[in-house]
Formats: sequence, structure tokens, C-alpha cells
Amino acid sequence: MDASTTELLRSLPSVEEVLQDPQVSALGALMPHDILAECARKAVGDIRERVLSGSLSKVDQEVITFAACRRALDNLRPSLRRVVNATGVIIHTNLGRSVLAEEAVDAVVQAARGYSTLEYDPKAMARGSRHDHVEHLICSLTGAEAAMAVNNNAAAVMMVLAEFAAGRKAVVSRGELVEIGGSFRVPDIMALSNADMVEVGTTNKTHVDDFARAIDGETGMLLKVHPSNYRMVGFVESVSGHELRRLADAENERRAAQDPDAEPLLVYEDQGSGVFLHLDCFKGSGEHTVSDSLKAGCDLVSFSGDKLLGGPQAGVVVGRKELIARLKAHPLARALRLDKMTLAALEATLRLYLDPEKAVVKVPTLRMLTEPAETVRERACRLLSALQGAVSEKDATFDVIPEVARAGGGSLPMYDVETFAVRMTLVRGDAQSCEKHLISERTTPVVGRIKKDAVLFDARTLAEEDLAEIAQACTEYFAQLS
Ligand SMILES: *Cc1c(COP(=O)(O)O)cnc(C)c1O
Repeated sequence: MDASTTELLRSLPSVEEVLQDPQVSALGALMPHDILAECARKAVGDIRERVLSGSLSKVDQEVITFAACRRALDNLRPSLRRVVNATGVIIHTNLGRSVLAEEAVDAVVQAARGYSTLEYDPKAMARGSRHDHVEHLICSLTGAEAAMAVNNNAAAVMMVLAEFAAGRKAVVSRGELVEIGGSFRVPDIMALSNADMVEVGTTNKTHVDDFARAIDGETGMLLKVHPSNYRMVGFVESVSGHELRRLADAENERRAAQDPDAEPLLVYEDQGSGVFLHLDCFKGSGEHTVSDSLKAGCDLVSFSGDKLLGGPQAGVVVGRKELIARLKAHPLARALRLDKMTLAALEATLRLYLDPEKAVVKVPTLRMLTEPAETVRERACRLLSALQGAVSEKDATFDVIPEVARAGGGSLPMYDVETFAVRMTLVRGDAQSCEKHLISERTTPVVGRIKKDAVLFDARTLAEEDLAEIAQACTEYFAQLS
């Protein structure tokens, strides 16, 4: 080590000295001493490393205290916090998928704040089942005989396969063996649940005969998987739930003739999105409802709670009563069960669907999907005014432009949602550094997108209170440039 490095190391303050700095010690009122000391230690450690690597020629006491304060303040911020979603992606998986309806939020608060009827039946004055809070609602909304809700749809798929296809064959089309966001892969779930996967057809075309040829006495299930965010167009063919039902009926007749106690061949659809209503925006995308799938003859259908349904993270399985009863009794049901806050949110969301007109307005995911473009344009104009009032023309100029928003969450991938965005063209600074500031430097990150050196804020996914937050964030960016 050369003399100058030794000299620099000697000039490093001690952790104690950093803690005595008035700015650092003021933070002592906000957090335990040990955490503050750890921040000071790391701040000194970082500088020591830079000295040792030869990248520092001078030790600045102020830089160290600033770094210690910054670390301490970062520590005070919750990790899971609010974000302003100005991306125009409605079901944004990284940003928490669906926003809950006010009614669902209230129900969560109620359930969290006090004791509840989670597993208590006040009419019978006896132990109740947590499944009861949502089952009758799901049944009346989908026409299903029975239903159960678990942690998410991946868990639902896992349970269905483990109960009905373990050690047996499950037949699925090659065209539906896709990976769904967040690394959900059907073959992996099959392997995990000990189902023997039989792939039929080709990538683009699977015919009913491909399924028919694959069925034998060992086949437990015909599986249909919604391709989610993946679409093939052109020379494409898949087998409908209706056709799978006909195959299963024929096979079950044959089995019953041989052995009245034989396990039947089931038809199961992993629908993914969870659509309850026939909305115009779903029609063009060939999106069918849970009720349609049941009517087509599926024994079981599963879907997510937080995609197009617009509720909390959950997975719902609907179908025949005796099959759902077996799922409820499966050991995985205990491991994958819903907690009371999620059940509260799910029940409240489902209740809104009892009046479809209300659901479209009150469930934020549905509202954002169906809101008229003109209403979105008016919101964009209010954001424009807020920004023009907050940011000087010498810093940036703004205008409202037409754009395309997305459903997201693997739903309706081909559906272009007409939208309007405020475009910020920077006079000072640049779009990249502005984006970084809006996202990384704030307690409430503002996530927009960059297009051709401008920053866009899509108004379709914004709430009214977000408008002032965006204006504030942009003001902060230009203030720190000076
Ligand atoms: C999204 C999706 C899943 C996974 O659902 P989660 O609720 O995210 O666990 C499974 N299957 C399909 C078809 C999906 O679209």
C-alpha cells in the first residue's frame, strides 16, 4: 500500500464521528440506534473501498455523512409502496395487477382490524368453513355447481392436476403449451403434480382426432389451456371445450360399461383471465366467460382473481360438486388456502358483479378497460393543465396525444385500447434521466414510458389523485437539475 493510500485511510472518520454529525444524529429520533449505526458503517465502508481501489484522491467528510443520511432515509421507506401507473398497461403484473374496488378495500380493512366470521357460522353458532364466504356468489355468477378459491391460479392448476391427474395421463395440445408471465409453465406444473403429460397436435394446429387417438384407459384428463399473452394468427386450429366434452362422454360410456366404478375422464380448462361478463372489448378477442366454458361441458374451470376479474390475487376453481369436494379435502387445500383479507376482498368484488352495470363502473380493471376514450382525453387534459401550471416552458413543453393502451396481465394481447397520453418534451435535461428520477428517487415512483425522447404519461391508468403527484414529480426533477 502506498503512502498516499495509507494517509487517506487515516483521514477516514470513525463510525462514531459520523454518528455525531448533527444531520445524522437528528435521524436517531426516527429509528433504532443500531440501524443508524449500520448505515454510518456502510457509508464509511463504501468510501474505504473506493480509497483501496485507488478511485478516490480525497476523503470528503460531507460526502460520507450525506451517504449515511441517505441510507438511513431509504431504510425508513416501506419497500412495498404506492406507485403511479402512467404506463397505460391496465393489469400490470409488476405493479400489482388489478387495483381493488373501494368496496373491496373497505372489506379488507374491516377483516384486518378486528375479529371476523372467517371460520364461524353465527346462524349455527358453530364452526363454519372459510370457503362459504365466496362459494355461493361464484356459483350464482357462473352457474357452477360448486367452487373453491385458493392462493392463485397457479395453485388452482396445481391442485386440479394433483388430485385428478397424478399417476395418470393428461392430454394437452402442443399449441397450448405456452409459458405465461412469471414463469408459469404447464409442463413444469404437470411434472410437479406427477401427471403424465401427453402432448398432441402441432404448434399451430390440433384436431379433435389428435385428442381422440391419445385417449386410453390411463387417461385422467383432457386439458385446455388459455394461451394468455401468446397468440397465433393465420393457419391455426384448436379443439373447443365442446368437442373435448364429446370425446370424454364417449370414453366414459365405454369405461362405465366395463367397470361401473371406473374413474371418469375429465375435461378441465385453465381459463387464466376469469371473465364473467360479455363485454364488447372481450368479443373481438374471442374471450369467453367462465359460464361459457361450463356450458360447453368442462367439468372444471380455473382462473385468476386479479386479472380481468379485477379482484385480489386468488385462484378460483369451479365445476361439479363432487369434484370440488375432493379438491377441498386435498392436503394442498390447507397449504394453498386464502387468508381472511383476500377472502374479504374477493367477496366484496364478487358482490359488485351481482349488478353487472355497477361492476363495470366500480371494479377499476373493468372501468379502465371500458372507459370511453373521450373521458380519458378529458383526464389527460386535466393532467396537461396541472403540468403546465407546475413546470416552466423553459424546462419542458406538453401536449396531449392519442396512444394505445393494453389490458396486460396476459389478457387480450391483441386488443388495442384507445387512449390519450400527455407528452412531455424536455427542453432541459433528457427523457432517460427524467424517467430515472421519477422512478428511482421518489417515495411514490411515477412510471410512464419513453417514446422518441419524450416522456409519456398515459391517462387511462391514472386516478384523479395521481395528476398532482405527476406534476409534483416533474417539478422535483427540474429543480434538482439546477
Ligand atoms: C395467469 C395465468 C396463470 C397463472 O395464474 P396466477 O393467478 O398468476 O397464478 C395460469 N394459467 C393461465 C392460462 C394464465 O393466464
